[in-house]
Amino acid sequence: MSAGTLVVGASQAGLQLAVSLRELGYTAPITLIGEEPHAPYQRPPLSKDFLAGTAGPETLAFRTPAFYREAGIDLVCGEQVTDVTLASDASATGIAGTASGRELPFERLALTVGASARRLTVPGADLAGICYLRGVDDATVLRAQLTGAARVVVVGGGFIGLEAAAVARSFGASVTVVEATDRLIGRAVAPVVSEFYRRAHERRGTAVLTCATVTAFREVEGRVAAVLLSDGTELPADLVVVGVGVIPRTELAEKLGLECDGGIVVDARARTSEPTVVAAGDCTVLPHPLTGEGRVRLESVNSAVSQATAAAAAIVGAPDRAPNVPWFWSNQGDLRLQIAGLSTGYDEFVVRGEPDSEKFAVLYYRAGRLLAVDAVNSPPDYMVVRKALTQGATIPADRAADEATPLKQLLMAAA
Ligand SMILES: Cc1cc2nc3c(=O)[nH]c(=O)nc-3n(C[C@H](O)[C@H](O)[C@H](O)COP(=O)(O)OP(=O)(O)OC[C@H]3O[C@@H](n4cnc5c(N)ncnc54)[C@H](O)[C@@H]3O)c2cc1C
Repeated sequence: MSAGTLVVGASQAGLQLAVSLRELGYTAPITLIGEEPHAPYQRPPLSKDFLAGTAGPETLAFRTPAFYREAGIDLVCGEQVTDVTLASDASATGIAGTASGRELPFERLALTVGASARRLTVPGADLAGICYLRGVDDATVLRAQLTGAARVVVVGGGFIGLEAAAVARSFGASVTVVEATDRLIGRAVAPVVSEFYRRAHERRGTAVLTCATVTAFREVEGRVAAVLLSDGTELPADLVVVGVGVIPRTELAEKLGLECDGGIVVDARARTSEPTVVAAGDCTVLPHPLTGEGRVRLESVNSAVSQATAAAAAIVGAPDRAPNVPWFWSNQGDLRLQIAGLSTGYDEFVVRGEPDSEKFAVLYYRAGRLLAVDAVNSPPDYMVVRKALTQGATIPADRAADEATPLKQLLMAAA
């Protein structure tokens, strides 16, 4: 009997890959193995509704236990894969070993191992009261501590830090966000959007410090009591949330000798440098999904799902699908940001609406070509740009700011 496919990493990408294999008619065994003790669950609510206490743990699971049985997916939780080798005979087969000594032969291997939270290494970084936010166990610990915290410092002004800051404010804590660069969410959005978020969080009572680097944490009785910054500022804190990015889990890929470059390098069909091995999700770097140029790392649900679907197709030899238009969302309290496309490399942007009204959109262009939209509390504008990108259509930059004209009336075929 075939050893089937081994999917290492049981989360967004791994589960999607297993489900897509079945949908494509794959009948061999599928083992989905993950080191977390939980069945696959959604991470986005961990910094939103789950952290705020408005969604319980029972809302996080992707699927019921019965689903795995019925789909013939052998889900193994709480087992870390520590070793993996491929047969030397150019077949795709191999064997994986787990921390508990289990051996799992496979015919095809998929790596969907995700990323782990980047940790601070400054003095005091291991004190109690310093929390990270990657998995449900992190979120459960943080949630419990938030209820009693009066002074919260969030280190990192990216999406997760700002979402956590919004939740902490809703609990009534005094909140300070400390960001090392000169603006919030700087890797993802234009300065006008960064500035909007700074002002919006400040309006809600959160202090925002940019160009501020954490040098140490001060303790009182083994617990964090203050955050020290490079300019000598000392911020009192009884709880610290750190959201300073992630590190892709490349360790197994490196053992296999697969090309890694800030993530496991894959092609548009999710094949690694050893084409029989596929990889998907936060652990990968991939060609730009729309232009094919360069390599990008996309930490998003959409990208994990899209790549996992492509990986399953590659395993069964199904044809390529249409290119994926990336999309993303971030809910920071009542501020809902929706992003479609990738703005990387833009040379022009158009602001539609007044940012301080807290309802606006920014459309990004390169050489007149529509690249992306950041829409704050503006779902219709988001939807129109996403549709335009999907259809290869555009919206003329010189008319996009005109709020009197619905964006959908401006949709036109790209030159
Ligand atoms: C707090 C939070 C909020 C987010 N909010 C949003 C959002 O609003 N919108 C959005 O689009 N995206 C959001 N994301 C990102 C999104 O959740 C990720 O992009 C997505 O989870 C990636 O899925 P993945 O399967 O690639 O990786 P992961 O979800 O990281 O899963 C990888 C799994 O593999 C396991 N694993 C790793 N190595 C091994 C091994 N050797 N053996 C066994 N198991 C292993 C890990 O333990 C993990 O369970 C958020 C992420 C977080 C943490």
